[in-house]
Amino acid sequence: MNKDIREVTIPAIVEHDGIHSITVKLLWRCPVCGMPRGEVFPAKSYDGSRVLEVDGWHNPCGHVDKYSAVREEAASNGLNEPPGAVEQDDNLDNEEGLDSFSRKLRKEKALSIMRQMQLLPDYIEMFENEKVCIFESFYGYDVDQFPELKQKIRELECKHKCLVYAVTHDNTSFGELYDFLIVPKHEEDWEHFPRSEGSRHIVYAYVWNTTREECSEFGSVLIQAFHGGIARIV
Ligand SMILES: [Zn+2]
Repeated sequence: MNKDIREVTIPAIVEHDGIHSITVKLLWRCPVCGMPRGEVFPAKSYDGSRVLEVDGWHNPCGHVDKYSAVREEAASNGLNEPPGAVEQDDNLDNEEGLDSFSRKLRKEKALSIMRQMQLLPDYIEMFENEKVCIFESFYGYDVDQFPELKQKIRELECKHKCLVYAVTHDNTSFGELYDFLIVPKHEEDWEHFPRSEGSRHIVYAYVWNTTREECSEFGSVLIQAFHGGIARIV
């Protein structure tokens, strides 16, 4: 390996639950000034509830590397796409969407949101296996049964470089709505979601109004969790 490149272990997401780390290759140069980065030492990351063993370093130049910035760097530096290392989803055409590494980070974030909403382990496991559920009145179905929705998910993910982790369906006075719950492209937007109060959670979504297409939009939606399922409060 090029001696300018090092492999380090960092938190995969901000709320890592003490288990979600990721090992990445980095060009060992400060992205601000280009000076060599500092020596690596064992460090601990605390996410507010759990401790995770990771790598740390102090750059001699004084510029501080934040883990969130390092993740973005690793996602785009071209050093972290191990061929075949990520089980590629057989049903989602990823060609123009996220690269496998960025997708993996967003998937970790999505799983942490699903756990926070206390979804049934079955739904979480389905998502781990690349299956998204559509929820109607708190009950989730495999979205694979609905080709039109699958196509919509693919379009959203490719066009907006986001990751859809669940869909809710409601008929309302202002139209038939499909809410695609997503982890957005930019990591700095992740920390705002979910905002939880008891069993209610504000999450980020694309709202598809199939009755009035022109009313479709991105925004935050209020989700009620109940017995391991979810529904949107409209
Ligand atoms: Zn520097």
